[in-house]
Amino acid sequence: MVGSVAFRTVNGQEHQRSIVDGRFGPGDGTDLDLRALVALPGFTDAHGHLANDSLDDYLGAPPTSTPTERAFAQLRSGVFLVYDKGGATRGHLAVLDEDPLRRPDLEMAGSIIHPPGGYYPGVSDRESDVADLVAVATEEATGPAKWVKLIGDWPRPGIGAIPNYEDHDLARVVATAHGAGCRVAIHTAAPGTPSMAVRAGVDSIEHGLFLSQDDIEALGARGGAWVPTLIAMGAIRDSLRAGSSGQILFDAGIRNAASLLSDAVDAGVHVLPGTDLAVPHGRVAQEAIAMAGAGLGAARALESLTSTGRTYAGLGDPWALGAPADLVAVAGDPAEDLTTLLDPVLVLRHGHVLVDRR
Ligand SMILES: [Zn+2]
Repeated sequence: MVGSVAFRTVNGQEHQRSIVDGRFGPGDGTDLDLRALVALPGFTDAHGHLANDSLDDYLGAPPTSTPTERAFAQLRSGVFLVYDKGGATRGHLAVLDEDPLRRPDLEMAGSIIHPPGGYYPGVSDRESDVADLVAVATEEATGPAKWVKLIGDWPRPGIGAIPNYEDHDLARVVATAHGAGCRVAIHTAAPGTPSMAVRAGVDSIEHGLFLSQDDIEALGARGGAWVPTLIAMGAIRDSLRAGSSGQILFDAGIRNAASLLSDAVDAGVHVLPGTDLAVPHGRVAQEAIAMAGAGLGAARALESLTSTGRTYAGLGDPWALGAPADLVAVAGDPAEDLTTLLDPVLVLRHGHVLVDRR
């Protein structure tokens, strides 16, 4: 463990801290002098799936790594907080038992809940009739998971994407989850569903291609979250037949989402970057860069990547005395050039140097 560290934050402020038991303490030592770099409080991946390497292995192909290895890949890349949005089973929740030097801080969903016909068939062990929704959500919310994850809509052959649930179903899941101290996240890529979810009190809208201005205002007023996963949505769009109704709908949705990014921040929504298996574990900075380019702007994208997720998780000032001795140091000014976030120079986790490329 490093005994002391000197660093400079993105606003140019210099700090010196001792490190005791993995936490920042008072002191003026410079055992680790990072003042030539810019220190950040680590990144957030707000839509990870530690259960999988890719959509292929979610759908049955052999995985090439384990949840533990994926969690460590995230950590080594400077991702100190992952909101995991679920898997086919609850197996990936075992990552919670790993040492914090081997994994990020975790806010995890267990099995992804959906009705028959409302998602990839036969993958999740929580494919369940709507009549059983509350019972299933109760089981998810009373385990080690902190999130309940629903699939809110899905395309049906010959019909297109339609909601999987009614307003009152969603409201009952929200009440159940909140009663157990959990939050609710919902996958939605179709029109109509985001409004239902926002009305029902769902905490985090995943993808949310068809959020409306009114939804944004309502979600922001109660401090909700939105994870647009622009790169993942672009990949799905590209996989659809050129000129098909599905692709036209996705194009419209992606344009709509991009147009709302900045308004959502203004409205108080926690707008967050997520990889969603379209970006390798640890590379969430790519999504922040995509969000910046789509209309969020560099300064807000940097805040989204490094601060917004911490706030939403209730984490305090990262540089305070007593805070975990965590930082990610990058070269250059990330507020000017977000690409520097792709290759952190140094990763310090609980006072241990995990990566040093100086
Ligand atoms: Zn996902």
